[in-house]
This record gives sequence, structure tokens and C-alpha cells, in this order.
Amino acid sequence: LRVGMIKQSSAGIYSWLPLGFKVMKKIEQIVREEQNRIGVQEILMPTIQSSEIWKESGRYEDYGEEMLRIKDRQNREMLYGPTNEELITDIFRTSIKSYKSLPQLLYHIQWKFRDELRPRFGIMRCREFFMKDAYSFDLLDEDAKFSYNKFFLSYLRTFKRLQLSAIPMAADTGPIGGDLSHEFIILADTGESEVFCDSRLLDLEIPSEGIDYNENLQSMVDNWTCYYAATDEKHEPHKCTVPDEMLIKARGIEVGHIFYFGTKYSQKMNAFVQDSEGNKVAIEMGSYGIGVSRLVGAIIESSHDEKGIIWPESIAPWSIGLINLNVGDPESDEICEKIYSGCSKYSVDMLYDDRNERAGTKFADMDLIGLPWQIIVGPRGLKTGVVELKRRVDGESKEMLVGDIPEWIKGRSFCDKEY
Ligand code: ATP
Ligand code: MG
Repeated sequence: LRVGMIKQSSAGIYSWLPLGFKVMKKIEQIVREEQNRIGVQEILMPTIQSSEIWKESGRYEDYGEEMLRIKDRQNREMLYGPTNEELITDIFRTSIKSYKSLPQLLYHIQWKFRDELRPRFGIMRCREFFMKDAYSFDLLDEDAKFSYNKFFLSYLRTFKRLQLSAIPMAADTGPIGGDLSHEFIILADTGESEVFCDSRLLDLEIPSEGIDYNENLQSMVDNWTCYYAATDEKHEPHKCTVPDEMLIKARGIEVGHIFYFGTKYSQKMNAFVQDSEGNKVAIEMGSYGIGVSRLVGAIIESSHDEKGIIWPESIAPWSIGLINLNVGDPESDEICEKIYSGCSKYSVDMLYDDRNERAGTKFADMDLIGLPWQIIVGPRGLKTGVVELKRRVDGESKEMLVGDIPEWIKGRSFCDKEY
């Protein structure tokens, strides 16, 4: 709120202002790239759904007060989707009839509405939120587990690119249902749930080269799931054998959640395919969510200091903040213009602070909004063409010649379009 990223419009419903929107879009793009990388295809389903399919699955009653129910002018019962298992199952059953078209992996990134009893912590628990939800359809149980494992590993990589260390934890399945489920949790003092996990999980290496899907995915997943990790709902002290000095008891924020629920929806909604022998088989399904809008808050929770936000380079609204300390001075303005136009040549996002404010205000504001790098053009270096380059995360600064800025930019990851 202080930075002007969001504005509440009514309880648990927010407008996204320029800075907040820019960050959310960058997160969305990373989430999208990592879904595409494992071969999930993007679609877009509507926010408003008909109640009919929810009556088929039996969740129209079960979902209760969290579902926002609407009547259209024909008096038809509609709803604002809290999730999309029913809608995607309906799409699947009318399009796919044979095992030959399997597997199918589909996702969309769309607004959801859940009429939370107590919306709180701003966008962390709100009523309208932006979510990536993916769905898998497989013929056999073992194929479905393969899909599940694919998402499991891809989530590790996604959160790593967001510079978060998200720990997969055994989880309850809630209203989605099913028996296999993991929540991806980041540790933060302000987290809503209490979590218990083996500290060795924090040291595990996430493959940055991508995942080789010909390898045994189950054994890669086992590298993680062999260590104890559970949220308070699932924590069973008598089953937890982690020695005290290795057990982390902390608070956590759920940023992703994956489910394998088998034929729970396909049975009720008649989503069958023919197998190679011509038998009708109920399709095995899983669903996989990431809270894209919640991540904006979760990343701030895990990366800030007393001065404000410290954005990871991968999702910073702008990579560099340019501070002109002598606005109106022709020489200073000229140097800043030169740096600014030079940066746009490399399509680097730069925010130029050309406001007529005191230096202290400019420094404080730039630290508050937390761009990873600051280039400060002050009176001292004007004659010699020297500027100050400051790194937000540790405040370390050094002098740099204006002419050297392009070289420096080219070596930075935010300039590397081929991540
Ligand atoms: P929670 O336990 O936090 O209520 P959930 O288990 O009901 O969440 P899922 O159905 O697993 O949520 O949704 C997938 C993801 O969507 C969650 O991991 C979370 O990141 C995000 N999410 C869920 N509810 C909200 C909300 N009210 N506001 C913001 N993000 C949310
Ligand atoms: Mg969940």
C-alpha cells in the first residue's frame, strides 16, 4: 500500500496499480514459461461458470458459502469460479474420446473468486485472486503419477526462478479431494500456517538445467519426499523421527498446491475414454495451482529489510532505478537522458527519478520500492562522467564511468532474454 502497488476497492478485492501490476505480470510470465517447458498447453476458461456442472460433481452444495453465486436475467444459476476442475472435465469429455489422445495437460491463468470468511493480509488472502491452475488427464494410475511428478519438479524450478525456496509438504486435499497432495510452502514469520520440516530440505539442489523427463522422475521426487515435511493439519508428532536439532518449526505461506485425485470427477461427470481394447475407462486426473497474485506478497515477505522491498532481479518491476540529484542542471539532465536512452536500447527496464525532490527523499523512495540496482548521478562526478552504482540488497556501492554502463548491463541476467 505504501509503495502504491495495490488499492483495496472493497473487502478482499483489489485494483492493481502500475508497479504492482508490472510485478504480477513478470511472475505470471515465469510461471507460464515453466508450464510451457514441461509441455502443458495454455488455454483460457471464463470466470463465470454455470451451476449445472457443479451439480454433476456434487460440489455445488459442498463448496458452501465460499462460492459466489449469481443469477442471470433468465434466472439461471451461475457462479464466479473458485477453481476449474468441473469446467475442464466438461471440456475434456466433449473433446477427447480415445486413449490415443492422451496424456492431456492444460493450464490457464485466470482470476478466481472465493468468498473467504476473513479476507486478510491484503492480497495474501483476498477474495478475488489471480491463479495458475493446470489439469492433467491420463489413462492409467502410473501415467497420472508421472504427470504429478512432472508438475512437482517443475514447481521447484518455477519457485527457484522467483528466488524463493519453496518446500513441498504433505498436505490435506480439502474440497478438491483425492489422496496424493503436496503444498509448496515458503518460510516466513507472517505465514498463516505452522509447518514442521527437516532442515536438510533447505540444502537440496534444484536442477537448473531443466529436468530430463526420460529419467526416473519418481526417484527425483523421492529425493525431496524422503525428508519429513508437513503443515500443522498433517503433522503427526509420533511419526516425525527428525532429531530436534534438525527439525524446523516455523510459519509458512502456501504458494502452490498439487493434487492427484484419480477418477473423483471423471466418474461423476462421465469423462470416459476408450482404451486399446475398446473398454470404457474413467480418466485419471490431477490439478495443480500456483497463487500468482499471492506470490507478489509472498516474495516481499521473504525479501525485505527495514528500508523496504528487495526485489529479486527476475521479477523486479524495473531492474535499475536512475536517480538524478540535480534535476534542472543541463549537464546532469543530459547524462541521465543518455543513460536512460542507452538502457532502452538493451530493453532493460529502468525507472528514472527526475522529480524535483530532496536527495534524502529520493534515496528513501528508491530503497522502499526495492529495485535491485540504483544508478545515482550526483554533482561530484559530473565533470568526470562518473556515477555511483548501488546494489539494493546489501547497499554496496561503487563508482562507474557512464561509458561503461552498457558493458555492465550486458553482463547482467536481466539483460539475458534467453534465460
Ligand atoms: P488456503 O489453504 O491458503 O486457503 P487453498 O488450499 O484453499 O488455499 P488451493 O485451492 O490449493 O488453495 O489454491 C491454489 C493456490 O491459490 C494456493 O496455493 C494459494 O497460493 C492461492 N490461493 C488460494 N486461496 C487464495 C486467496 N484467498 N487469496 C490469494 N491466493 C489464494
Ligand atoms: Mg491449497
